[in-house]
Amino acid sequence: MPREPTFENALAFAADLIRIPGLPGAEGAVAERVRDEMRALGLEDVRVDDVGNVIGVARGTGNGPTVLLNCHLDVVAEGDHAEWEVPPFSGQIRDGYLHGRGAMDIKGPLAVQTYATAAMMGRAAGDVVVAHTVLEEQGGLGMKILLESGGLDPAWVVIGEATHGDVCIGHRGRAEVEVLVRGVAGHASEPSRAANPLDLLGHVLAGVRDLEVGQPSDPVLGRGTAIATMVEVVPESRNVIPDRALVTVDWRVLPDDTPLRLLTRLRSALDARIKDLPEGLSYEVRIASVSQRTYTGFERSREMFSPGFLMDPEHPAIQAAARAVGRRDAPEQPARIRPWRFATDGGWSCGVHGIPTVGFAPGEEHYAHTNRERIEVEELRWALERYPLLVDALQRSRAG
Ligand SMILES: [Zn+2]
Repeated sequence: MPREPTFENALAFAADLIRIPGLPGAEGAVAERVRDEMRALGLEDVRVDDVGNVIGVARGTGNGPTVLLNCHLDVVAEGDHAEWEVPPFSGQIRDGYLHGRGAMDIKGPLAVQTYATAAMMGRAAGDVVVAHTVLEEQGGLGMKILLESGGLDPAWVVIGEATHGDVCIGHRGRAEVEVLVRGVAGHASEPSRAANPLDLLGHVLAGVRDLEVGQPSDPVLGRGTAIATMVEVVPESRNVIPDRALVTVDWRVLPDDTPLRLLTRLRSALDARIKDLPEGLSYEVRIASVSQRTYTGFERSREMFSPGFLMDPEHPAIQAAARAVGRRDAPEQPARIRPWRFATDGGWSCGVHGIPTVGFAPGEEHYAHTNRERIEVEELRWALERYPLLVDALQRSRAG
């Protein structure tokens, strides 16, 4: 007999998941637990892919469009245990809240999505795929690979990052951009033999500041921002003129901003400031990159660019979804439609792959990544009830 998709079982599953730590790149034990739960619930095609994402399917009754539900398997570090009111990996329920690292980001919502999928088996108008992915907290390599590897082809994606019951339709993205100035290293006592990349630093920082003036703005998402956050030199020694200086820029981007466009804008801002390049110096701009390894051993070098996205708030399916969900305190009123303040894997699904994407999940965003992380038990229960209605609204609207 498959496990009953009741709220009590979902809550026990969420609490159990909190007891299994799983930093980005070390989600193996969490993935195993999620896979076992999907099997116990009777989902079909339950599998773990090459990068370690866990996927299960609830077959629908007809040929309605496929909806993909998505949360992530990783959590951020818990920090000093002594600073927590409730131990971070206890999964305790206290004062009406489920507590601990991941309670709202994102193991509570993950349990809700997984159980809602089980409840929709043989009932939904189309297939419902639930896929929980790795490395979301470090840019979303799991989601990127899940979508690139194809085969799923969903008409809609629903992201389970906290919305406190609202329907979220987008967010800004984030890029880490670098300005690398090259010179010629030398002993600080003989500057004439060297070319000091730090000579260009003032111009570079001024050029980055100039970028701020021309940042595009969106009526829903607000403005993009670009700010220098770090300067590094190589070699790092107080009596050596370095041969390289690297300035990092944290850039919050709008959905139309591609890596190429960012680099073009930065290059022209710098060119405007750096009229004559001192001899021996050169500079280049690039997107930062990092090599990542998943718990399954999959390795990939990844550009530090997480795209933004934005759905039209007037889109009929979004309007239908908001009506289907309703407000917890006023069910006859449609859910609020708004953007998130933080980035999610929706940037990959909608921003890069163009798959219509919305967010819906219990949880108050301000508890995310804090040592007070928690999620209200009754809100979890409410969200579990609302999820099938949301999926139904999306499947019955024209896709896209
Ligand atoms: Zn999250």
